[in-house]
Amino acid sequence: MSKSFYSSIKREIEDIRNEGLYKEERYISSPQKTNISLSDGSNVLNFCANDYLGLANNSEIKKAASEALETDGFGMASVRFICGTNDLHQQLETKLSTFLGYEDCILYVAAFDANGGLFEPLFHAEDAIISDALNHASIIDGIRLSKAMRFRYAHSDMTELEDCLKKADDQGARHKVIVSDGVFSMDGSYAKLDEIVPLAKKYDALIMIDDCHATGFVGKNGRGTAEHFGLEGEVDILTGTLGKALGGASGGFTCAKSDVIKLLKQRSRPYLFSNALPPSIVAASLKALEIIEVDTERRARIATNASYFRSQIKNLGYTVIGDDHPITPVMVGDAKIAQQMSKLLLAKGLYAIGFFFPVVPKGQARLRLQITSEHKQDELDKAVTIFEEVGKELGVI
Ligand SMILES: *Cc1c(COP(=O)(O)O)cnc(C)c1O
Repeated sequence: MSKSFYSSIKREIEDIRNEGLYKEERYISSPQKTNISLSDGSNVLNFCANDYLGLANNSEIKKAASEALETDGFGMASVRFICGTNDLHQQLETKLSTFLGYEDCILYVAAFDANGGLFEPLFHAEDAIISDALNHASIIDGIRLSKAMRFRYAHSDMTELEDCLKKADDQGARHKVIVSDGVFSMDGSYAKLDEIVPLAKKYDALIMIDDCHATGFVGKNGRGTAEHFGLEGEVDILTGTLGKALGGASGGFTCAKSDVIKLLKQRSRPYLFSNALPPSIVAASLKALEIIEVDTERRARIATNASYFRSQIKNLGYTVIGDDHPITPVMVGDAKIAQQMSKLLLAKGLYAIGFFFPVVPKGQARLRLQITSEHKQDELDKAVTIFEEVGKELGVI
């Protein structure tokens, strides 16, 4: 036991607290929905789940999960290539690739793993990975594991992206890939795919998009960012999650051409060295996709709710960033104010969490509100009223 190790850990925790950056967990004692119970017995409006289509507590999905629990058991107790591949895994991979318009798909236990295990097998020292500065942590980590040349462009700065493409060519890059979140989770904004696609064509680069905050509800049919821009078929590699709109349990995937998926199944380390997704989650995700394919009303409701809420919060005088996406980031700047605001909101019955460093840059703290298709008009209005009261109390508006 090294005493100095433990005392330096303690100091680091104190530093985090002193900077107002310490995150506390809150305990929920009901299923995920727009109105949740907390462990202290209170009932609050929930404005921060990724449950975009309200499927986290859907009865058909729960039924599919419990049926699979009976027919296929609790766990696979194996990685996929040993004895962990159930016929449900194969069905979900086919369903996801068909729905999203790709040749094939590979499942992971999380999108974090899909991104973490993507770059190292596909891109080597003579290749170039060109990445948006605000990409998700799992993309950043995945790129770190690859030996490829790395280039980073300022968030959505297409001039810098083009410079990176030129530099990669100057350095003799064999293959180039442009890597971006489809929707930036802290900002509620879309990647400029309409500008990225022509640049990729001009410089003969591939495009990889992480659509965790888009799959299932962005685009007319819920196929994500490419569909939103009318650019289906232009994204070479797509990663996504089962842990947000598609039921909210867990799981991730990569869709691409079949040879790419074949190679990932040979070489991608989170796939080779980590347990298979449990059958109940796989069966439930199949059901979630079935619901999403036929139920266009959820998508219509989330769009209406999101733009209504965004405009109401803006009207109060708050700075709201991003595009017309259900992620509604309300900027407050200072982490301590974000924490304080979150506490006051909760006391009035609104659960909304402050986001600050390291999940967003220092000095850009915000409250990230997320709208779902299931928020009712009175719940949206109540949240707006609470936001007005708390904002005035704190002098933010
Ligand atoms: C949530 C998220 C992930 C991680 O997804 P998990 O399935 O929870 O691991 C990856 N990328 C982005 C952009 C995300 O928002």
